[in-house]
Amino acid sequence: MAAIQHPPIPHTGPLASYWSRQVQELVLLPVTEFEAGQRERHQLYSLLTMALVACYWNGNKYGQQGNYPWRAKQRQPNQSGYVGGDYLGHNIASIAVDGQGEVIDFDFNHNEILASSVEHAESRLIRRVFSLTQLFDDWDTADSGSQTGTVGEPFTPARTPYSTLLNRVTIYTSLESCSQCSGIMALGSVKAVVFLHRDPGQNSIGNILYNLRPQGERYLPPLPIPADTFGLSYFGELNAGYEQFAAELKNNPESCVFLPDDPSKKRERSPSVTSFLCTDLAHDVFNRALQEFTQLKEVQYPDFAPPQEEGQPKPHNNAWVLQHLQRFLSYAIRKGQRGTPHKL
Ligand SMILES: [Zn+2]
Repeated sequence: MAAIQHPPIPHTGPLASYWSRQVQELVLLPVTEFEAGQRERHQLYSLLTMALVACYWNGNKYGQQGNYPWRAKQRQPNQSGYVGGDYLGHNIASIAVDGQGEVIDFDFNHNEILASSVEHAESRLIRRVFSLTQLFDDWDTADSGSQTGTVGEPFTPARTPYSTLLNRVTIYTSLESCSQCSGIMALGSVKAVVFLHRDPGQNSIGNILYNLRPQGERYLPPLPIPADTFGLSYFGELNAGYEQFAAELKNNPESCVFLPDDPSKKRERSPSVTSFLCTDLAHDVFNRALQEFTQLKEVQYPDFAPPQEEGQPKPHNNAWVLQHLQRFLSYAIRKGQRGTPHKL
């Protein structure tokens, strides 16, 4: 019997124009050319994101008892296991930056501590930024319908509409986003998402959503910006490191990610990106980024700032941004782990 097909034929909308074209046309994006000052600016935020990963390093993906052959350099000197402590989630951090260049907040992947496969850094961060705006509702300012907010009278606090609230926000994330996070960023109309490492398992979903963006100003998917477009050398290192890790696990039957102390338990051989993010290869890259960031004393383009948009505050220049980001790292370290279970 012939299978009955129910093709979701789009009669209107962006998908219609791709219906009979090559898949690659739906995936490829034009390469963005940044001027030197903007390249430096993207690098500064990227370095902060990498520094956060290094400072909150999670390495013990399969627990603290056992052997990680790819983490020999992370062994504690007293042989009491590896650095990283309890595994809260994967080594993935994100920051949200507003139109002026100020960091709004940061977050991490917390899959493990929340026993969930959806507690990703970007989606947690977007949901937090939305809830922060509620904290700042001006509850004491009545709208035109009521001066006092008298019980029983309609009262609407002054608030920027949530549908366009994030359309000047850029997310920097240490790993390319999945479909969940790309979807949440699209619903939030985030302006751009800068990623510092490719995740080949995500099928370039961020690019696809961007190419299918609707008309108008709501639910606009962010522009994906891979970090090689502004010359971040760590981007190539992370991608090459992961390829090396995955090839070795595939081609060498002796190679493995984790050896449990108990030989009857499973040797882990899965070449996942998140396992790579625990290795010495990745640890070394993130630590070098941390050092570069904390040792940075001045920028090459101190006066550079993106153009001021009409009706918006003037963006800060790169010199201000460097100071701001270095202070933010101190704050983030003092603040401790984000998103532990007492917070939603
Ligand atoms: Zn995700």
